Amino acid sequence: MPRRDDLEHVALQIVINSGREGIIQSDLWRKLDASSREGSRVSLKLESKGLIRREKEISEGRWTYRLYPKRQPISIDSVLTQPCLLCALVPKCEFGGSISPTTCELLRNWLMELASKSGGT
Ligand code: SF4
Repeated sequence: MPRRDDLEHVALQIVINSGREGIIQSDLWRKLDASSREGSRVSLKLESKGLIRREKEISEGRWTYRLYPKRQPISIDSVLTQPCLLCALVPKCEFGGSISPTTCELLRNWLMELASKSGGT
């Protein structure tokens, strides 16, 4: 059996990899080869550290928890669509100028879309 910290680390990676769908906690225990008692302890610990959230749901006729990561690693895909990368106005764009990141609609829309994808508002 891996050390407790290792188990938490592996569990967190599995939950993060589950993405927006999350993972039923019993599936996590199976992947960790841990008992339900040890698995519950790990998920409570991750939740208390603010790394995951648990939502109660019925699975196969029984109440359980689905575990979701609170944060997702930033993917390079999101950066590739950043509008400044291909913007012809980059040389003229500056804070306080007539062309500025603080007033740019393209940048604003990109940030809003990024926020909505990550569950923010
Ligand atoms: S903030 Fe807007 S205007 Fe400025 S470089 Fe980025 S996309 Fe272009």
